[in-house]
Amino acid sequence: MICGRANDLRNVADAVLGSMRLHEIPATPDNYALWYEYHAGSNVNLCRTIDAIISNRLGFDEKTLNDLHASFFDLAREKRAVRDTSKRVVGMLQEIVSLVSCVQEDTKEFGSAICNLASAATFERTIEELRKLIEDLVSESQRMAGRSEYVVVRMQESAEKIKTLEQSLEDALREAALDALTGLANRRSFDMSMRRLAGDAMNSGDELSLLMIDIDHFKSVNDTWGHQVGDLVLRYMGICLKQCVHGDDVVARYGGEEFAILLPRTDCSSAAIVGENIRQFLLREPCRIEAVAGMAPVTVSIGAANYYPGEALSDWIARADQALYTAKQEGRDCVRSASCVNSQFA
Ligand code: GH3
Ligand code: MG
Ligand code: MG
Repeated sequence: MICGRANDLRNVADAVLGSMRLHEIPATPDNYALWYEYHAGSNVNLCRTIDAIISNRLGFDEKTLNDLHASFFDLAREKRAVRDTSKRVVGMLQEIVSLVSCVQEDTKEFGSAICNLASAATFERTIEELRKLIEDLVSESQRMAGRSEYVVVRMQESAEKIKTLEQSLEDALREAALDALTGLANRRSFDMSMRRLAGDAMNSGDELSLLMIDIDHFKSVNDTWGHQVGDLVLRYMGICLKQCVHGDDVVARYGGEEFAILLPRTDCSSAAIVGENIRQFLLREPCRIEAVAGMAPVTVSIGAANYYPGEALSDWIARADQALYTAKQEGRDCVRSASCVNSQFA
């Protein structure tokens, strides 16, 4: 079914459910949001990408869905935050401009009122007339001073509002870089950190390593205890990972039940030790969920790889993935390191 842009909300909702059934998409909030955006038709690039996947019969496996979400949704949230805030800033600037032009108008009026009064103040005037002229001058000045005070107060208010807006934009951007479920960095901000840290490592010559972490048999956690319990386990995993690393390490939800950690100034064997600490932490402090008695401790498999300066980032990830795959093959609940497979960079 190619992007049928439905007209009203009811039709959109029906179309979303129909498509998700047809393409056997798991009913998660993220997937629903993705397909809603598709059928609402507001994100043209997302529609084109999904249409291309459908017409090429590539199917929507979990990785594809996560990639779609990371590429279009997180970015869309960020764009929306920037657009909303810019709109409010523009509105406020327009208000200030109209205030300033109002003052200019007033200043002009004040100037011509003074000129008129000055040219009226001739020797032929009686004392009474001159007194009246001076009274007019005083009241005109007071009016102007009052107006300026009003403008100054409004300007101060606007400056305060702009400060609040700046803060809310910063908050929105920070939030857009986070995974909504775990509060860890999301895939997009992970990719940006990876580029930044690889650049730093190339400049400084410092080591940089990556851990890819995948929960073992997570599908059976969902199947046995339900998706909500699965979500709680993912959240718990986020807390554990944060506890096991240093402040400047970057911990991210890479997608689904996969996590990734970037470790600056850390070589591969030290990264593997961090991985081993994570593995042991989970055995020592298994996830306890009150409503779920008897859930087996959740274990993880971990692949470690250090960065070879100049290596393509996708190759680096592939080597960490390969190490993770080896950990799965060798029985899960263990850490494996990438060997120096690429002699160019070894
Ligand atoms: P393996 O040990 O080989 O990694 O097995 P696995 O079951 O962990 O791996 P598999 O790829 O077969 O299943 C991953 C599961 O993770 C399936 C998917 O529904 C679940 N999952 C992915 N994202 C989420 C999520 O956000 N919440 C929940 N509850 N489950 C998720
Ligand atoms: Mg996986
Ligand atoms: Mg898994």
